[in-house]
Amino acid sequence: MDEGFNPMSADIIDGKAFAANLKQDVAAQVAILKEKYDLVPGLAVVLVGEDPASHIYVRNKNKSTAAAGMNSFEHRLEPDVSEAELLTLVKNLNEDPAVHGILVQLPLPKHINEAAVIDAISPEKDVDGFHVINSGLLATGGRGMVPCTPLGCIMMLRARLGDMSGLNAVIVGRSNIVGKPMAQLLLNENCTVTMAHSRTRDLADVVRRADIVVAAVGVPELVKGSWIKQGATVIDVGINRIEKPDGKTRLIGDVEYAEAAKHAAAITPVPGGVGPMTIAVLLKNTVTAACRQAGVEEPQV
Ligand code: NDP
Repeated sequence: MDEGFNPMSADIIDGKAFAANLKQDVAAQVAILKEKYDLVPGLAVVLVGEDPASHIYVRNKNKSTAAAGMNSFEHRLEPDVSEAELLTLVKNLNEDPAVHGILVQLPLPKHINEAAVIDAISPEKDVDGFHVINSGLLATGGRGMVPCTPLGCIMMLRARLGDMSGLNAVIVGRSNIVGKPMAQLLLNENCTVTMAHSRTRDLADVVRRADIVVAAVGVPELVKGSWIKQGATVIDVGINRIEKPDGKTRLIGDVEYAEAAKHAAAITPVPGGVGPMTIAVLLKNTVTAACRQAGVEEPQV
């Protein structure tokens, strides 16, 4: 094809379609677990306070959990709930055999210590993969629970690229929930990994060398399209809500999408890229957790 006629030459990595397939696989796994072992994976989601975005996430999580045939347990707590009360709830969920995965929706109100709450979740039930034991297992090559968003990114990258050995991967952002676990996962794929952050000098030059770019910053269009190497694969984790002149909002990513698509071989859109994968992987992690706790093989579908 003459690329001169097509300014947007990159393939779009369709996270929505990817997530729909993964959800179907999870539902098939759940059906097998029910029939073979009478095991119904259960996910408990704890929501504290009234944050509207968190309410939407939690509603979607519950809907998706039920649609996959799993048990969904929702706990809504008042914004002024004490840390002690929340810790008691987590302890009860840790001890409940019907609950295989526990997710405490972040952010928590300021008076609650997030780290203390995450640490209170049993690592086997920590389907978000945020517990320090799970980060340690990921860093040392052990078998823990892997955070959903980076795991979803690596699944899409594997499907797109297959063997990633020796590729230069640049991750922009070094948070505990996205950037750092993403770096570990790309190292496991034998990439040469560079992590960039707010103190990185000449970010453009760092990104230009990347065969794989993962942007997880939270700054709209920070990564310019002209920085993208010809033929690179771009994963945009960023979700930024921008107000339009008419007062409505729209979502954009951390990558200057239209310009990047002229250089990349493949790119995830925002919305419809990484976002939908996160919930699908959460369901997958819940199945994995349930199988491990029950001591049964995870069904292959
Ligand atoms: P954090 O705010 O925790 O981390 C942001 C990172 O970006 C930090 O490491 C920071 O560097 C770095 N950074 C900030 N400014 C710059 C800059 N100018 N140049 C280079 N690096 C910079 O964010 P998260 O990792 O939690 O989230 C990142 C984005 O991903 C957000 O938009 C969030 O909404 C989205 N997200 C999407 C999810 C999904 O399901 N699709 C799930 C989770 C997050 P430093 O460490 O030096 O401060």
